[in-house]
Amino acid sequence: MKTLNDFNFENKKALIRVDFNVPLNDAFEVTDATRIVSAKPTIIKILEDGGSCVLMSHLGRPKGVQDKFSLRHIVNKVEDILGVEVKFVSDCIGQDAEDASKNLKPGEILLLENLRFYPEETAGDVNFAEALSKLGDIYVNDAFGTAHRAHASTTIIAQFFPAHKCFGHLLAQEIDSIKKVMETGEKPVLAVLGGAKVSSKITIIENILDKVDHLIIGGGMTFTFIKAQGGSIGDSICEDDKMELALDIMKQAKAKNVQIHLPVDVVAANAFSNDADTEIMDVTQIPDGWQGLDAGPKSIANFHDVVMQSKTILWNGPLGVFEMERFSEGTIALGNSIAEATKNGAFSLVGGGDSVAAVKQFGFEHKVSYVSTGGGAMLESLEGKTLPGIAAILE
Ligand code: AMP
Repeated sequence: MKTLNDFNFENKKALIRVDFNVPLNDAFEVTDATRIVSAKPTIIKILEDGGSCVLMSHLGRPKGVQDKFSLRHIVNKVEDILGVEVKFVSDCIGQDAEDASKNLKPGEILLLENLRFYPEETAGDVNFAEALSKLGDIYVNDAFGTAHRAHASTTIIAQFFPAHKCFGHLLAQEIDSIKKVMETGEKPVLAVLGGAKVSSKITIIENILDKVDHLIIGGGMTFTFIKAQGGSIGDSICEDDKMELALDIMKQAKAKNVQIHLPVDVVAANAFSNDADTEIMDVTQIPDGWQGLDAGPKSIANFHDVVMQSKTILWNGPLGVFEMERFSEGTIALGNSIAEATKNGAFSLVGGGDSVAAVKQFGFEHKVSYVSTGGGAMLESLEGKTLPGIAAILE
């Protein structure tokens, strides 16, 4: 696996695919700069080597050229974060871009205009990728968030740098973290899968049964498993057409010696609302008119014990409807348990969608070992897929 450390960037131009797809408010101010901050180590290493950086990214989903999706809006923010002046060119290919790249001196940074102003980017067009490739000597992919897409700048472009391509620090870290959980993790390995639906996690569950010793299933997924085993779940969220699959997963887990832990009690509510009446109930005895919206105290205690025994922990998906304060306790308690296990030496990876939002919202971000920057890319990795953006560098 080639990384930045395999190259000396002195007098070289690094063409870096970053993920600067950051949220902007109505005044075009960056409201969450995490992705820019995450790219900093790669950029600084190249500048310190005596190289220069040509940064390319997409922003939003523009239809053709639309000023509101222009990357010029973020130039100041990128400068603030990197502490270096950032030049900007209002096209990502063509003569202007080539001139701007040619004039770049060691220590300088150039940001290209939004790649997705060209439909060829998402179409994975080879000619567009070749035009981009003229802007640098070494191709660096540091955009995990788009590594599951075979786009021109994330995948197709790599063929124009057969011996001069590598992963940036961020992407290398993402790959290492996934590997630590899926391949080389110290046992016992635990996966906590929560969230709303079995159907969106099924491929992950099936892939992960070969890698883990314990599997905690929580959140809305719980009820498909409980109903399938004959429990009464009232009005709780359930996918009836996945009940057989749930039983099959339980069987597979037994055969593979994986212990599945489901909630035993829940915080049930008489409406899907923060103002509803609530009661702690046995997960198998929820009457009609009530629905389980969070893990109950016994479940939280059980999960704590499992987490504390584990040396490697993957967390994907909340244990309840954490967006509503009264159903956030299970998710917060789990975060606390994982933070404590991490402090005691366990490796913990949080990844994929809503669990990242929960971890940030409740302040666990720096108490776990690694928080993934990629939603879809993380989910596909956990499903066991080889991401095209990663494969293109390895080839
Ligand atoms: P996912 O994107 O699959 O990780 O699902 C996250 C969503 O699952 C969050 O928006 C939660 O509110 C929701 N969720 C978690 N637990 C439950 C539950 N018991 N009932 C309904 N929705 C839930």
